[in-house]
Amino acid sequence: MNIALIAHDEMKDTMIGFCIAYERILKKYGLYGTGTTGKRIMDETDLNVNRLASGPLGGDQQIGALIVSQDIDLVIFLRDPLTAQAHEPDIQALIRLCDVYHVPIATNLASAEIFINALNRGELSWREVRKTTSQRV
Ligand code: PGA
Repeated sequence: MNIALIAHDEMKDTMIGFCIAYERILKKYGLYGTGTTGKRIMDETDLNVNRLASGPLGGDQQIGALIVSQDIDLVIFLRDPLTAQAHEPDIQALIRLCDVYHVPIATNLASAEIFINALNRGELSWREVRKTTSQRV
């Protein structure tokens, strides 16, 4: 299973704290991240992240494409709710695709912690079943 990690600039310190706190769990999964978020996570933790383009340069859309191809099982997207983003349409598109493909998405630290603990307890293993089933269709 693969996890996408994205954080807007004002939320990057929070993302690093989250990754340090849950490094032991995150290590077990494939990680994808937008450019700057991915770089900071790799610089400041022992996690390996498949880095895509920076969010404003199309990284959110690349993650969207991975959702369409069923390569992402959980999205942790720490959005800054107080700052306007130039790439807001990309952000909305990413969230929409999560709804289209039933991919859990956490947009703040509180929900991110619930999801990561659920993942660790095996509560998202239905994703594997769903993928296997859709491959058969
Ligand atoms: P970044 O992109 O990780 O490259 O900063 C995140 C975003 O703004 O969507």
